[in-house]
Amino acid sequence: MSTQKVAIVTGAARGIGAATAQRLASDGMAVAVLDLNADSCQDTVDAITKAGGSAIAVGADVSDEAQVIDAVDTVTDKLGAPTVLVNNAGVLRDNLLFKMSVDDWDTVMGVHLRGAFLMSKTCQRHMVDAGWGRIVNLSSTSALGNRGQANYSAAKAGMQGFTKTLAIELGRFGVTANAIAPGFIQTDMTKATAERIGVPFDDFIKACADDTAVKIAGQPEDIANAVSFFAAEAARYVTGQVLYVAGKPMN
Ligand code: NAP
Repeated sequence: MSTQKVAIVTGAARGIGAATAQRLASDGMAVAVLDLNADSCQDTVDAITKAGGSAIAVGADVSDEAQVIDAVDTVTDKLGAPTVLVNNAGVLRDNLLFKMSVDDWDTVMGVHLRGAFLMSKTCQRHMVDAGWGRIVNLSSTSALGNRGQANYSAAKAGMQGFTKTLAIELGRFGVTANAIAPGFIQTDMTKATAERIGVPFDDFIKACADDTAVKIAGQPEDIANAVSFFAAEAARYVTGQVLYVAGKPMN
């Protein structure tokens, strides 16, 4: 039986999830690259295998219970029991409160909160059985409030409470749970935000970098590095934390 750890990264076809999947693979884990459509995961899987790692593509909607159960079963069959889970899948449906539709509210809650709940609930059994596990949830600086994001900021604040509760419940089984709250990260998601507000992406990137203390536009790898820390054996005494990775102090 292989001792290689098995990780699932959701929303890993691109952006932060893709960089995280690659990072965990280079840390020595076998990685299930999970996204809505398995075909969209192929580039991430190819990048991992080309670098000598092992990965599979898995298609599932994290907000659908049956698909989540199927996906985790597939990972268990093909790679082994998953003991590292990164709840990264995410969507934006930004609008001012008075214009926000109930669908836009439900979709964002569904992917972020229901998705993280279903994935964590389904994977925790394997972690408890192994007496070891790592759950890393993607929050956001928007958890502190952000105009046009009543749905997203509520979901991302919810991820923080969810994380702390998992830490309390699962700690005795050797499982830690932590959250990472990124500031601006250069991905398709923030490109879409720039388009929505009518600002050229390069100008948006520059403005976001200027707004940090370090004067840098965050990259997916900046988040992947933080996930790698939380997922490591060495982070066993770190749990229930929210790490802001935003290039400036946040509170
Ligand atoms: P991204 O480039 O938009 O990637 C998100 C991925 O999640 C996409 O591949 C998307 O698939 C997938 N996804 C969406 N709904 C899904 C579902 N129901 N089931 C499975 N996969 C689903 O976003 P990102 O910028 O890398 O963000 C990753 C995470 O970090 C998100 O949770 C986001 O909220 C958070 N975050 C990002 C930033 C930032 O500045 N970029 C800042 C703070 C927090 P499709 O392409 O098929 O829709």
